[in-house]
Formats: sequence, C-alpha cells, structure tokens
Amino acid sequence: EAALKLKNEVDVKSWKVGEPVPYAALAHAFSMIEATTKRLEKTHILTTFFLLVIQRSAKGDTNSLLQTVYLCINRLSPDYIGIELGIGESLLIKAISESTGRSLATVKADLKKEGDLGLVALNSKNSQKTLFKPKPLTLPFVFSKLKEIALSTGHSSQSKKVSIITKLLAACQDVEAKYIIRSLEGKLRIGNAERTVLVALAHAAVLAEKEQAGKKWSSEKLTGRLEEGTHIMKSVYSELPTYDLVIPALLEDGIDKLKEKCKLTPGVPLKPMLAKPTKAIGEVLDRFENKRFTCEYKYDGERAQVHKLEDGTVAVFSRNSEDMSKKYPDLVEQLPHCIKPTTKTFVLDAEAVAIEKATGKLMPFQELSRRKRKDVKIEDIQVRVCLFAFDLLYLNGEPLMQKSLGERRELLREHFQVVPGEFDFAKSSDGETTDEIQTFLEESVKDGCEGLMVKMLETDASYYEPSRRSVNWLKLKKDYLAGVGDSLDLVVVGGYYGKGKRTNVYGAFLLACYDADAEEYQTICKIGTGFSEEALQQHWDTLRPLEMEKLRGDLKAGGAKPDIWFEPKIVWEVLTADLSLSPVYTAAQGLVEERGISLRFPRFLRVRDDKSADDATGPEQVAEMYERQALAQSKGNKKGKGG
Ligand code: ATP
Repeated sequence: EAALKLKNEVDVKSWKVGEPVPYAALAHAFSMIEATTKRLEKTHILTTFFLLVIQRSAKGDTNSLLQTVYLCINRLSPDYIGIELGIGESLLIKAISESTGRSLATVKADLKKEGDLGLVALNSKNSQKTLFKPKPLTLPFVFSKLKEIALSTGHSSQSKKVSIITKLLAACQDVEAKYIIRSLEGKLRIGNAERTVLVALAHAAVLAEKEQAGKKWSSEKLTGRLEEGTHIMKSVYSELPTYDLVIPALLEDGIDKLKEKCKLTPGVPLKPMLAKPTKAIGEVLDRFENKRFTCEYKYDGERAQVHKLEDGTVAVFSRNSEDMSKKYPDLVEQLPHCIKPTTKTFVLDAEAVAIEKATGKLMPFQELSRRKRKDVKIEDIQVRVCLFAFDLLYLNGEPLMQKSLGERRELLREHFQVVPGEFDFAKSSDGETTDEIQTFLEESVKDGCEGLMVKMLETDASYYEPSRRSVNWLKLKKDYLAGVGDSLDLVVVGGYYGKGKRTNVYGAFLLACYDADAEEYQTICKIGTGFSEEALQQHWDTLRPLEMEKLRGDLKAGGAKPDIWFEPKIVWEVLTADLSLSPVYTAAQGLVEERGISLRFPRFLRVRDDKSADDATGPEQVAEMYERQALAQSKGNKKGKGG
C-alpha cells in the first residue's frame, strides 16, 4: 500500500526515462519513510523508489542509483574515502537566515522550539514569500553540491559553504529544505538503517529483472527470489562494502552474478569480525564442547586491517574502515620486511600494539593513544608499534574467508615471517582443558594483554564472518573474571559543571548508548568519579567545542538534566559493576521492561577514538548484559540456598 501510494504521489509522468532523478521525488520518499515506524513499510517504500530510479535510468547509467543510495544512507562515498558531511549548527543557522531573510535570533528561537534544524529550515522557507517558482532541483545536482561542501577546506571555506547552502535552500520547494539541511547536518532521522537499504536494493533489482523479462511468477516464487536476492546482497556487501563497485555490477550483470563479480578486494576494507563476551572458562567449554578451538592472546592495541594491493601499495585500515596509513607510516614501512617473496597481494587482520623499544615489552593501549592520529612523520615517532597478525583473509588473488581458521592460520605462517619488534603472529595455544586455558590466560595477562580470544578452529563454524559479533569468537578478559562484566562503549551527550575545585571544567558527564535502528541516542548513566584533574581538563578541551544549547531531536534524554548538551561524537569505554532498571534513563526501554537500564558505579576506562558515535554499544547489548547479570544472580542465589 505504502509503495503504491508513493508511486501515485511521485510525479512519475513528468520524470522521463533518461532524465535525472528529481530531488523532490527523493524528498517525498523520505517523508513517507519518516512517517512510518514499521520496518517493512520503510523497506517497501525504498524498494519502490529504487525500482523507479532503475526503470528511469538510461541504459548504462549506474550513477543515478548509486547517488540515490548514498543520499539514503547520508554518505557521499565509502567510509574509507572519508568524504564526510556533518556541518556545524551555527553555519547552517547562518545559511538558513541568509537564504530566507529571517534574523539569526528568530532562526535560533525556532530551533529552541523545534529541536530540529530541518524543520526550522522548512518553517523559514514557508514563512518566506516567493514571487516565482524556482527551477526544480535534481538529485545529481544536490549530490554534487553536498560533495563540494564536504570537500571545501581552507580559511575561506566557511563562507564558501554558506554561499552554496544559501543557494541550494533558495531553490528548494516543499519538504526539500528539511532533508537537505538534515543531510548537511549528517543526520537524516528517517530511521533508515543500512540493512533496510541493502534489502530494498536487492528487492528492487529482483523486481526490475522480473519486469524487464515480462515474467509471471507465483507469489511463492517471488518471495523465494526476493529472499535469495537479499541473501546475496548482504553477503556480497559484507565482503565488498562499497556501493561504488556493487551497484554498477548489480545493474550490469544482475543479482545472480553478483557473488562472482564482487569479491573481497585489497584496497576495500571489510567490516571486521567481532567477538562475544564470556564470563568464565566453563562457559567457553560449554559453547565449544567437542569442537576444536584455539586460544590467542587478546592484545591491547588497535585493530589494524592491512592490505597490500596489486600495485604494491600498503594500506592500514581501522576497525571503522578509516584509512590509517598516515597514522601508521612506520607500519607501512615495516611491513615489507615480514612478507615472503611469494606473497604478492593480501588482507591481514591484526592488532597494532605499542611496544617498549629497548625490550620489546608490550605496552598498554594508553601508550598507543599518545600517538598523533594524522600526518605522522616517521622521524617524530616516539611510541613504537609492533603488528600482531591473527588472521589472513585474502592471499595472492584469492579470498580465504570461507576456509577454516586452521587453514588460514597455516597460510598466514607460511607466507609471512616474524621480525622482532615489528611483526609477529598472535601467540596461540590449542590447549583444551580448563587448567590449560587458565594457565594461558594468566600468562597473557602477565605479558600485558587483556586476556584471551577463543576461536573455533575447524569446519565452516570457523569461517571468517565479516561485520558479525559471532559466537565462534569468544573474548575472555581478565576483568570479566573479576565479575564486573564487559565494558561498554558510550557516547558523551551531556556535561555537568564542576563544583568547588572543578569550576572551570565539567565535573561529571551524561552518557548514552546508540540505537542504530531508530537512529537515536538513549541515556544510560552519569559518570563523575575517578577522573584526574588533567583528564578533566582534556575532556573540557575536546567537549567544549561540541556544546549545544538545545537537546537534539535524536537524543532520548528521559529524566536526565545535564547543564549542557554535547553533539554526540565522543565515545568512551566504560566499565560497570552492575546494571539496574531505572526510571530516569532511557537505554533499552521496552526491551527488558518499560523502564530503561542504567549503569551503577560506572568507571571510565579510556577514550575510544577508533569508534564513532554510531559504533557505540546498542540497546540490545545493554539488555543482554542486564539479563545475563540477572541470570547469574539467580543462579548464585539458588546455589546459596542449596547450601
Ligand atoms: P573491545 O576491544 O573493547 O573488546 P571491540 O568491540 O572493539 O571491543 P571485540 O570484538 O569486543 O571488539 O574484541 C575484539 C577486539 O580485540 C578486536 O577488535 C581486536 O582489536 C582485539 N584483538 C586483540 N587480539 C586479538 C586476537 N588475537 N584476535 C582477534 N581480535 C583481537
């Protein structure tokens, strides 16, 4: 129904084949997606829109669909190229004011009332009298302007950006202004998870093929084909997460050939496989009963996915797919020493760890975080880094993800060599008894690691699963054994001014988890103890520029009332002794109970600048932790009662 409505409402007749996608059509689809909370309905609307774009694109035009998809996920390029939107509030306010003739004060007052700059832009446009209708905006034009804004740097870039935005706004009709401003802000707020986009893309491709071939399918056949298409799309995208390559292949050769055409390619980072936490060795043994597994040191550094391309380039990518080659020029330089002559192209999964130069001793993550993040010069490097490789995902033209970990590890050891202080293989032990694991765990902690990673070694259960937090990888941290549980990665969304000695800094902070499906931040706790004066000063310096006067529409604050709000950007790793239900905070509301969940006695561990706000712990994980704790407590009680 929703899809039909879209088809009727978008002015399909005047959108001729071969003509650029009208931006108004996309804005219309966005409004409809925003208006529903039902995931299925969102998917149908998006599918219908993608199908329209495919059907109206000229033969060979892959750009229209590509740019449409990028605007739907509010990006302009793949992550590793890093062309980012996220224009500051004050710049947008200025542009809205200049374009619509409303005073800055009125625009700001409106923002206080609405809490959403997109709506403010729309209100401002509506209050403006226009004498003539502007020429309709096209999607490629908007895309190119957004890109121009994102790419402009240098001292005159601010005024250049304002000028482009002002002109764009002047050309907006109906709801267009709302979405252009939200895109620029970096938050579309239509509740469109990337998963929905992938499903819609697959469905649109299947439907386009069906219509093109004039096929008549039974509804079972159609459902089957849609499911098959979705499966292919998800698996291809997890191996090659770039629409730049996937969409042209999809349009040129169809969905059935996609797996063949799009494989893991050096130069395109894939989202790493992640682990599930475990609390006790017994739990590991239960999970891996009768299966072969291996324990590896869990190094305390930064994830580094290292690629060597056909042309000899070496690139290092972060956990977030950001290109870190400029942060680690030393790794790039060291790497050729550890490659055997037969090794031409590869993708390594590894941990970059700070080491003491003289002794080669492993240093904690804090040491690594002292390194500069950008444009590091080799001669200035103080903190040395050694790479510990634990997986090989691609070798000499062949993806290896669907080989067992045992085989991948053999290939890794065969094609690389240890260079002391520069490159090593993650230390492992294939011991299987509680005692063996316990001894290895203690050894890992003594050697400066966080604990162990326990991994399935054989059969298809040991395949590499990109972007999944898998039960086939378990993490066993020393902290868990002390009974405190896993750490959480939380976004700093508010600050409380310090009292007494702490008057020129924030004395406490409001933290939130992130719900990726609803695209919203949910408050979880206040944290204010355990910070040194120096740390408080540093947090002040980083957070002050992110201060916002008004609560953002995508922050579900609940009863939390900090003195100041922050733009959600900074992620902290936090440990907690306990989780409890809370009438104040909103994290995971409705998942366990109506009330939210909050952390009791949270303790700050470190800043996670390898994570963006979107990577913060999600409400399901919070609920899972709460339930595990409740389960452990009830077991404990039963034991206690039993004597
Ligand atoms: P955290 O790093 O806080 O544990 P995370 O969400 O970054 O959490 P997890 O899946 O929980 O990631 O833990 C795996 C991380 O541990 C990897 O991302 C990697 O950086 C690090 N690591 C260290 N040693 C290993 C290893 N031998 N195998 C896999 N990952 C390792």
